[in-house]
This record gives sequence, C-alpha cells and structure tokens, in this order.
Amino acid sequence: MDRLTAQQRHQNMAAIRSKDTKPEMIVRRGLWKRGFRYRLNHKRLPGHPDLVLRKYRTCIFVNGCFWHGHLVDMQALENSDCCKIPSTNRDFWVEKIRRNKERDRDEQRTLASMGWNCITVWECELKPQKREETLDSIAFTLNHIWMQDHGVKSVPYPNLEEEDMKMPMAAEADN
Ligand SMILES: [Zn+2]
Repeated sequence: MDRLTAQQRHQNMAAIRSKDTKPEMIVRRGLWKRGFRYRLNHKRLPGHPDLVLRKYRTCIFVNGCFWHGHLVDMQALENSDCCKIPSTNRDFWVEKIRRNKERDRDEQRTLASMGWNCITVWECELKPQKREETLDSIAFTLNHIWMQDHGVKSVPYPNLEEEDMKMPMAAEADN
C-alpha cells in the first residue's frame, strides 16, 4: 500500500538521495568505527551539517567536488582534477558553483560565530586509496579540538629546549 502522494514521494526520494549519498556514509561509518557519535542533518543549524558532534563542537560537511567546486579557482575559472565545469552551458554551471561556494562560506562563518568548528570532507578525499588517511585525520582533528577545549596540552611532548637544559640525559634517552 502506498499512501504517499506523488509530491510527497518525490520529496521523500529526494531526501533519501541527499541523505544517504555514498561519501557521507563512508564518513559516518568511519567515524562510528573510531568511536565518535554524532547527529545527522541537523535541521536547526545553518547549512544542515551532515554530521554534528556536539561534544566536539564540530559540524562536518561532506561535499561533492563538482557541486561545491573543490579546488576550482573562481577567478581564473580553471577546472580542477575533481571538478570539471562542463563546457556546454558553462556560464550557468559557473554561476551555480559560485553560488554554492559562497553559501558554504557564509554558512560556515555563521556556524563559527555560534562557536562551532566546521570540517569539510571532500568526495575525492574518500576514494578507496585515500579514505583511511582522511578518516584518521578527521579523528585527529576532533581529538585535538577536544583537548584544546578541556585545557589538555595540545602537544604531548615536553618543550625540548627547557628539558634539554634541565635534564639533557633524560631528554636524549626518550629519543
Ligand atoms: Zn575534490
């Protein structure tokens, strides 16, 4: 039985498509596996971040390289490796990508002013050969943010110059 109107179904399909795109799932699974917990598609925050980690005051956006113009120089309008602006209707696409990039920037500024950190993960950084490295680096950044928030020294190594003066042997022995 299907009780949805065509319009509702269209909206549902669109919502499902935009919610469970593959790159986002990779980030979700990867962070979950690394012990991070999050909320999804936070409706009340600007830009509806894909993942929200309140404990880390962090919003994560998983961006498609084409739609968000990854590495495209909007002045020179040169394509990047992962975002090739179609030559057909080029002006249309340029304008669309430009607006997306501006909106991304404005939303992240607003989030920053509300005290949120923003991490943008790009589709091209989630290719199989780069994936684990990317996820590790997000995990590292999140832990770094948490340590800073809680006054834990961000650099776990002693200040070597001071240590050298106080007890050079011990400092050397650590190497
Ligand atoms: Zn890219």
